[in-house]
Amino acid sequence: MDKKFKTRILARIQHLFEEAENIKNKNPELAKRYITLVRKLSLKAKIKIPLELKRRFCRHCYAYFIPGKNYTVRTTGKTITYTCKSCGKWMRFGY
Ligand SMILES: [Zn+2]
Repeated sequence: MDKKFKTRILARIQHLFEEAENIKNKNPELAKRYITLVRKLSLKAKIKIPLELKRRFCRHCYAYFIPGKNYTVRTTGKTITYTCKSCGKWMRFGY
């Protein structure tokens, strides 16, 4: 896999996140579809989704997080826990 290809896929991924961000309130289902697509692209091209973007969706059901709506955030000393209200599962990140 050449570098140019990966750069292009990454740009595509970032674009999909932007689109998801734009329509998340109007159409959460479509946002979810974009995230599913991001997931597929990243697997196919073996690209890691940047951490900052990874925190914007549920890795279990791919729901795009809408602040104050479909997820809750809890911080403890060293970690942040995101609980997804769509599927009830959680993910934990370190600082
Ligand atoms: Zn979920």
